[in-house]
Amino acid sequence: MALGSNLGNCHEHLDAAITSLRAIHAIKNLVESPRYLTDPMGPPDQPDYLNSVCEFDTQLSAHSLLDELQSIEIERGRLRPTDAASIASLRWQARTLDLDILLFGDSVIADERLTVPHAEIRSRSFVLQPLFDLNPALSIQGAGAVAELLAAANKLGIRPA
Ligand code: ATP
Ligand code: MG
Ligand code: MG
Repeated sequence: MALGSNLGNCHEHLDAAITSLRAIHAIKNLVESPRYLTDPMGPPDQPDYLNSVCEFDTQLSAHSLLDELQSIEIERGRLRPTDAASIASLRWQARTLDLDILLFGDSVIADERLTVPHAEIRSRSFVLQPLFDLNPALSIQGAGAVAELLAAANKLGIRPA
């Protein structure tokens, strides 16, 4: 799972997300990667992002996990518009907290709510680097070894937090 924040006290948003995840009974053995400061994607003139990933065991379905992640985002003040025009214009706008599912075991999911593995996982060094930190031998269903994807990705703009 990926965590990202670039509004307000970013470390506090990530800490709160980790605490909320650990409080869910169906989530066990959560480990967080080191955190990185990264250049923002999308609209310019945004603060840098604080990014990390975490790994855990869960009995939740992927869709129930997404429900949990979205309610944690909203608890931390993330605005999530529901109309199509706002969704499009606010894409990649600065946010207090973004929680994405990167991988869900070996599952491959493609429906209107969920794409797993995450659609952009292979090109984003700000998730590949912390995934590599947690598990250098990790392989991504359909994309290959994280170590190789990371070697090929542009690592400019990612530095230890
Ligand atoms: P990106 O997907 O490029 O990282 P984002 O995280 O900013 O963009 P959001 O606004 O957080 O995008 O989410 C938009 C929608 O993406 C969510 O409502 C959710 O249904 C959908 N989605 C699809 N796949 C995933 C996934 N693997 N993890 C989280 N959300 C996902
Ligand atoms: Mg995201
Ligand atoms: Mg998201």
